[in-house]
Amino acid sequence: MSNARTERRFEPTSATPAGLLLLVLNAGALAAGAGAVGFYLRTKNPESAPYTTEALALGALLLGVATALSANRGLRVRVGAAGVAFEKGDLVRVPWHGLARVSLEGAAVRIEGKSEFGTGVSELCSLHTHREALAALVAEAKVRVPSVLGAEVEARVGAPAGVAGEELPLEPVQIAGRRCAASGKPIAFEGDGVVCARCERVYLRAAAPSSCACGQALNGL
Ligand SMILES: [Zn+2]
Repeated sequence: MSNARTERRFEPTSATPAGLLLLVLNAGALAAGAGAVGFYLRTKNPESAPYTTEALALGALLLGVATALSANRGLRVRVGAAGVAFEKGDLVRVPWHGLARVSLEGAAVRIEGKSEFGTGVSELCSLHTHREALAALVAEAKVRVPSVLGAEVEARVGAPAGVAGEELPLEPVQIAGRRCAASGKPIAFEGDGVVCARCERVYLRAAAPSSCACGQALNGL
């Protein structure tokens, strides 16, 4: 493919101040602790510590909220021609054809699929800290692999507010050494393969169907 591949890199925004997170975490621990003490007192005298169950429930709830708020807070996410990628020490990249599901999970979006190396990926990105990346992801997925988008994801995430993130160049799609998505046969040389422009599946030119598994026409490539 001649057109340059790029992706955009999104920094998480800190819509949840670290102080607030700490506050919720402390309140949760305090409530859970009070509940635990109450539980102990009740074993001695069933009439004592009347709010034990409530304190335990509140503690669990607050700790749950803190977990949701802190989920992948610092994670940088990239979205572009090569799919969606997460900067987790190594770059964990899920190509568009490997993306299985993008679904709402409370105030966050779960992104599931298989990495370029075939390993399972499941990442949770908060609507608060990763809205720009999620908006870019949903906008791209809508065009490339619309079937992976869960109900109401688009409505909750919203459209990209403008051009956001830092643009990064991508290497051309690696073809040599890959396996044909139709025949499973290895592709020895760059020139023997064709790449779907929409989902980036790779096919042996000789075995390529007229349209990709994603529906994109492959004729004329
Ligand atoms: Zn395709």
